[in-house]
Amino acid sequence: MRIAFGGYEHETNNFSSTPVTGAVMDQIMRRGEDLARHHAGIRTMVAGVLDESAELGIDAVPTIYGEAGPCAATEKGAFEAFVTELVDRLWAAHCEAPLDAIALPIHGAGVAEGYPDIEAAQLRAIRERFGPDIPIGMVLDLHGNITPEMMELSNISVGFQTYPHTDTYESGRLLVRLLHEQHTTGKRLHQALVQLPWHIAPAFGVTLSGPAHDVMAFNQQMVKDDPALRDVTFFQGFPYSDVSFAGASVTAVAETAEAAQRAARKAAEYAWSRRQDFLIPLNSAEQAMDLALQAEYPVVINESSDNPGGGAPGDGTFLLAEMLRRDVPGSVYGYIFDPEVVQQAIAAGVGSRIDCLLGAKTDSHHGQPLELKGAYIKTISDGKYLKKNPMGAGGIGSISQTVLLQVGNVSIIVASARRQVLDDGPFRIAGIDWQDMRIIALKSAQHFKGWWTGRARTIVACDSPGIHSGDLTTFAFRHANTDYFPLGDPEWE
Ligand SMILES: [Zn+2]
Repeated sequence: MRIAFGGYEHETNNFSSTPVTGAVMDQIMRRGEDLARHHAGIRTMVAGVLDESAELGIDAVPTIYGEAGPCAATEKGAFEAFVTELVDRLWAAHCEAPLDAIALPIHGAGVAEGYPDIEAAQLRAIRERFGPDIPIGMVLDLHGNITPEMMELSNISVGFQTYPHTDTYESGRLLVRLLHEQHTTGKRLHQALVQLPWHIAPAFGVTLSGPAHDVMAFNQQMVKDDPALRDVTFFQGFPYSDVSFAGASVTAVAETAEAAQRAARKAAEYAWSRRQDFLIPLNSAEQAMDLALQAEYPVVINESSDNPGGGAPGDGTFLLAEMLRRDVPGSVYGYIFDPEVVQQAIAAGVGSRIDCLLGAKTDSHHGQPLELKGAYIKTISDGKYLKKNPMGAGGIGSISQTVLLQVGNVSIIVASARRQVLDDGPFRIAGIDWQDMRIIALKSAQHFKGWWTGRARTIVACDSPGIHSGDLTTFAFRHANTDYFPLGDPEWE
């Protein structure tokens, strides 16, 4: 069997002011053997595709693939140039020796200018060149906004079950296993989609416990119990992409169309019956600090509303301002994005003091810049560390040039790249042993829990104002359906 894989993976937050430009696309795209080498030994979707293929004796041809960090939509020309190259490379692989299937490890909530559904756009372009027969499989993120068009243009879609996404690698493997099954048995699998009138903010989506965990367990049990089923995935959707079809959904893959449809329907009914349970109270910065001070430490406070992993700028100052106001011994803020302050601190050097305006420079949604006087420069780092979170463990993480500032009792890590904090990497490179700290603040909605759960004694969520807030009433949606639950209270049967 011979397959080829590639694609463009992006989670688009249309409230962000930072687009994916052609220059960014140039940076992130990997081609051919360089693509395969880059993912070898790391727990990613692509590595899952490669490893499963190797085990099953499948020739897996890497074409072109890249993941852009979550932010605003991709520029039209850059996206179109990518799609042309993807299709050309897939076709070249096919002309060398016929392909039996194509695998796209992508996302499901990607938007480009003029393309509200970039997954369907990639599929359509491939179909135009290859025709209707070649099996195309997708691995999709649990935050995908899944559309009927995506289903019609592909044969098999599987999604991450977990949030934190600790099963990205396994999902890549599953897709290849199902493509292989189809190929060896000669029997096509079928998929079905049921969309729900429901927006789920990432602040409510954790699958380690609570309603999202129950929904995942329900679906996994269905697959175990029914030999005709191969996969059932509950997609939470991504409201911030602000497209008309944003929302939660369920997909199922089965031996027959009827079995897939029945399973998707049953799973959707169960998830929908639990929708009220997803709404947990959200804490302001002040409330989060109050809770943290009463809790067993080390306490992690995650500022979910400014999560760069969901397209927020990562330079919001609401929680940091509150920490500076309280000035609790053993506090660390890790980290805030501000490359200007990093350069100012590097120019001044370790051991000196600077006055600066920190953070809130990207847009007007994430607080005011903080005026720091005499901030002491403790460490300077290149920002590189080995990733330990199950998401991408074994790879090199980088938050680019990083400095540690000390202001009163608060240690502030300032970095030059927007990334979500997944493990203790940013703290270690700054010279902080988090186990010595009382309050550890970071910007992430749920993914950080893949590493911090069981290590921090307490986790407190903080929902300051921001473009990744769990409070959907604060968003001026232009396209997303505002009648959907919980903004409205729609009927669904
Ligand atoms: Zn996701």
